[in-house]
Amino acid sequence: MSDHFTIKDQSLLWYEEILESHLAEAEQKVDELLADTTVDDNGCKVTDTKGPRRVRFNGKSDRAYRFVLAVRSNYAPSTDELVRHRCHNRLCVNPEHLLFGSRLDNWLDEVDRKANGPGSHLL
Ligand SMILES: [Zn+2]
Repeated sequence: MSDHFTIKDQSLLWYEEILESHLAEAEQKVDELLADTTVDDNGCKVTDTKGPRRVRFNGKSDRAYRFVLAVRSNYAPSTDELVRHRCHNRLCVNPEHLLFGSRLDNWLDEVDRKANGPGSHLL
């Protein structure tokens, strides 16, 4: 027996457990998070926090936008999978503005934002 092959990414494990065993609770948490935001002209659901809001659930915490997207898309992301904001607003937790992507994707988004300005991907 080898433990080596059973070690799983902490993020993946946490989200897999949430999606398998705590989905109803998690969906309620997402609804609460989304209700506690202000919608701006881009349709962004912006949290009333200085930095990206964090959420605590089932003994661990993560950025609220990551939690919202994972629960809403029923997908367990690994640590290497980042959330891309298509609207480039890091305070936005609107799942329709979010995508999972790699670190490279995230970097390319940033380059694109600097070149074209915010919101260019939403069109
Ligand atoms: Zn947004």
